[in-house]
Amino acid sequence: MRQRYRVFALGLILVLLLSIAGCQSSTLQQEKPQSKVEETDVVVIGAGGAGLAAAVSAAENGAKVIVLEKMPMVGGNTIRSGGAYNAVDPERQKKQGIEDSIEKHFQQTLEGGDYKAKPELVRVLVENALDGLHWLESMGMKFKDEVYTVLGALWPRSHSPADNDAGFSYIETLRKAAEEKGVKILVETKAEELIMENGRVVGVKATNAEGEELIFKARKGVVLATGGFAANVEMRMKYNENLGPEIPTTNHPGATGDGIVMAEKVGANLIGMEYIQLLPMGDPEDGSLTGWLAPGVEQMIFVNKEGKRFVAEDARRDVMTNALFKQPDALMYVISDHKSFPKGKTSFNEDPNDLIAKGKVIKADTIEELARKINVPPENLKATVEKYNKAVEQNKDEEFGKKLLGFKIDTPPFYASARKPTVHHTMGGVEIDTKARVIGKDGKPIPGLYAAGEVTGGIHGANRLGGNALADVIVFGRIAGESAAKGE
Ligand code: ADP
Repeated sequence: MRQRYRVFALGLILVLLLSIAGCQSSTLQQEKPQSKVEETDVVVIGAGGAGLAAAVSAAENGAKVIVLEKMPMVGGNTIRSGGAYNAVDPERQKKQGIEDSIEKHFQQTLEGGDYKAKPELVRVLVENALDGLHWLESMGMKFKDEVYTVLGALWPRSHSPADNDAGFSYIETLRKAAEEKGVKILVETKAEELIMENGRVVGVKATNAEGEELIFKARKGVVLATGGFAANVEMRMKYNENLGPEIPTTNHPGATGDGIVMAEKVGANLIGMEYIQLLPMGDPEDGSLTGWLAPGVEQMIFVNKEGKRFVAEDARRDVMTNALFKQPDALMYVISDHKSFPKGKTSFNEDPNDLIAKGKVIKADTIEELARKINVPPENLKATVEKYNKAVEQNKDEEFGKKLLGFKIDTPPFYASARKPTVHHTMGGVEIDTKARVIGKDGKPIPGLYAAGEVTGGIHGANRLGGNALADVIVFGRIAGESAAKGE
């Protein structure tokens, strides 16, 4: 009996020794480099317009800030945008004789989004847009003296950067200001997951270009500013099955909805995910917004392959795109004349003469010649332009009801560019309140988590007005940074 007990005890010791050894060797085999841990006050995820605005604002409010950007460069979709920023601006608008009001901007935004936006967020947007613009000016950014109507803006209150370098000037202005304020910006650093402790977001798990895990602890808060998901075909098809891979996008490849997925995992409420905006303005080759002269709404008409107008050019973006889908090959030409030919660069920072040389913009001395060059029936295009010019003269477009009838198309040379539908902006996302705090499924803010920009939902409703995105990015980015810095 004693013998058997001894054998059993020896066996047990052996098994224990073996399992410890096994365990050790398996830990050795699996051992990864230890996560590097860094601690700061505020961590911002995404270095587009909203993220950089949040970073500057958090730093202005006394916080130490680290920004994580997964791509090799900062800028996101913001740097690709045409740079239009909507704000009621009595100083500029009065000089142009434009009547406007905060109430009108509020109503047009709500109505233009089919009343699907949260009115209190729209209120914050329209009331703070001009202050946001002045904030950028205080950092050295310059805007043109004249406002215009960017596509789908519904009213002439769109501001554009003075040097025509579109989204670039927003990013450069904010990046410089952020760096001056000691903000650390890490590129090729992808946020993978939000770290929760006792119901509070306290940091971010990320990976660097080498695949190493990095931990960023945030003493005060984390701001999600990861943008939308228009470049993630699978995700956009989850919410709208018609938006398959055959439809291109204006977005940069990093617009994959990461922030929405990360937020959902910690209980964030998502709103308006099915509202995805297309533009009728994509370059037929790559879906981008570049490759045309980009005149204002008042200065151009759209014609189909038959040389006929098919929609009011000052309509909502969804209305124009839906109308374009019904045209032959869903292809249209933007027609404009000498009066709106850019003096320097286009609002997408392109050289107009270069565009002509590349064949992106077709130039001709007469409308008939232009028609022949773009292969539409000359007699149709001539009749269309004549009819449109009459509508401008009478200030009444009986055919399509265009209201912003500024200019006739009557001064040679004339220009045309082909355009196709393209996926542009995802209006849905993480729900926030007026302090940019992320709202959970229980209707309460998730402590420590803030969001701004295209990652959020509820600001634009079912359709976003052209020019409202940059105002959104700056206004709510600024609020999110301040809220996070104050730990509100
Ligand atoms: P917004 O207009 O809302 O600022 P942008 O598209 O301009 O949106 O910027 C979003 C930025 O967030 C992009 O630069 C994008 O590469 C970055 N981003 C997206 N997902 C991640 C992620 N998981 N980690 C770090 N950065 C991210």
